[in-house]
Amino acid sequence: MAVYVLGHKSPDTDSVTAAIAFAELQKMLGVDAVPCRQGDLNPETKVVLEKFGFAEPELKTDVSGDQYMLVDHSDIKQAPDNWDKGELLAVVDHHKIGDITTPNPILFCAMPVGCTGTVLYTLYKDVYKKEIPANVAGLMLSAILSDTVLFKSATCTDADKAAAEALAKIAGVADMMEWGMEMAKAKSAVDGVAPKDLVFRDYKDFNMSGKNVGIGQLELVSLDLVEKIKDDLYAELEKVKADGRHSVFLMLTDIMKEGTELLAVTDDPSVVEKAFGKKLEGKSVWLPGVMSRKKQMVPPLEKAFAG
Ligand code: MG
Ligand code: MG
Ligand code: MG
Repeated sequence: MAVYVLGHKSPDTDSVTAAIAFAELQKMLGVDAVPCRQGDLNPETKVVLEKFGFAEPELKTDVSGDQYMLVDHSDIKQAPDNWDKGELLAVVDHHKIGDITTPNPILFCAMPVGCTGTVLYTLYKDVYKKEIPANVAGLMLSAILSDTVLFKSATCTDADKAAAEALAKIAGVADMMEWGMEMAKAKSAVDGVAPKDLVFRDYKDFNMSGKNVGIGQLELVSLDLVEKIKDDLYAELEKVKADGRHSVFLMLTDIMKEGTELLAVTDDPSVVEKAFGKKLEGKSVWLPGVMSRKKQMVPPLEKAFAG
């Protein structure tokens, strides 16, 4: 029986490559594992799969009646539909523990590191003692470069750097920073992309003290890329908010300047000041040093919503 391996909705490079890399490991262990994606691939992920010779994983958004494993999330809001009508066998993640529960014991491996790729590196090397194929190592390396924003993110740990060094050797990537910049440029592609697709390119819904809160993020080599379409993005956020949400945020993250311009549409603008100590100026606020949704956006916002 096939076991499906899925990353989160609005898949990023880590979610897609971790599904492939974990499925490869499971196959080595005799499991008929099938990597899947829960949505369209972003331009960075496409470049990564092409470079290391992988096809797009199949699209799957419903696990009713299936056996499945999750990577890069354990939140119901990011999980496949009918997650509770299938059988969850494993979770490999690097986020806060989410709200998915199981009736039986499962393999649950979460580590406070910058990327699922780093957790998988530990599973391959230290837990199951399996060799990582070169092309799979290339995927895992790319995920680390992507999730840690070339090691600049607050989420990046020494374990991520060490795993990346080792994976680059296995994959035969001579200059990983050069490859990382190539990926960053692909990730920054906004020309000709509909504003709605930009908002949802890397988007997550959260439940914060009973309020529905959406947070999208665009990582860009320069904010100039979106200067002309900011009003369109804002209009799109209004629509997303109108669909039953209390607040919707879009992080425009400048990976060179290492900060985020936060666009906010909210019923309560004071949450922004409570969370970040800075008032919205019109529709947005510049947050220097903020690059990580997981570590620098979600925790302060959750606190602001709670109090
Ligand atoms: Mg992710
Ligand atoms: Mg990740
Ligand atoms: Mg990310």
